[in-house]
Amino acid sequence: MKIKLNEVPEEGQNYDYNRNTAELNEVLTDLIQNNEYSVHMFIKPLNTKDFTVTGNLSTKRREQCSRCAEEFDQKIKKNLNEILIPHQEQDRTGKYSKSHVMMGDSTDEVSVTEYNKQQFDVGEFVHEAIALEIPFVAYCDSCQKTESTDAFIYDEKMGEDKKPNPFQALKGLKLN
Ligand SMILES: [Zn+2]
Repeated sequence: MKIKLNEVPEEGQNYDYNRNTAELNEVLTDLIQNNEYSVHMFIKPLNTKDFTVTGNLSTKRREQCSRCAEEFDQKIKKNLNEILIPHQEQDRTGKYSKSHVMMGDSTDEVSVTEYNKQQFDVGEFVHEAIALEIPFVAYCDSCQKTESTDAFIYDEKMGEDKKPNPFQALKGLKLN
């Protein structure tokens, strides 16, 4: 499933995909099997070659709880906030400056995706977006609560004068 970016109108266009419209069914099978999914995107040209993609996606997948081994449906929801830029060859320094795509004073996290040949590969993009949301370790709702409590006790033990390890802090955030 690819969108021809040169056909996106100047005022932007909505794109919606789900199991009924079926465009992404096959490419997402390995991640979410036959579960429902909903992808909403609004694509708008920023200039002659860069595009913004905003929207959201939601789906679920069958997981086995790492603690109690119960099977449960893991919900996946994600906001999309992406800039599409044409594929760039690296310059002599091996670095390509992406600063020109920064969005004003927006504090939202914006990611950058490169496209090839005027085409945005929606299947690959959505597959990647969902794959990134899948936790390494899955806990069902009741085990999730237990894990959160454990994490809290651990933080308390670290003491107030010690800065928490940023990775531990991130882990704590994920669990909430
Ligand atoms: Zn469990």
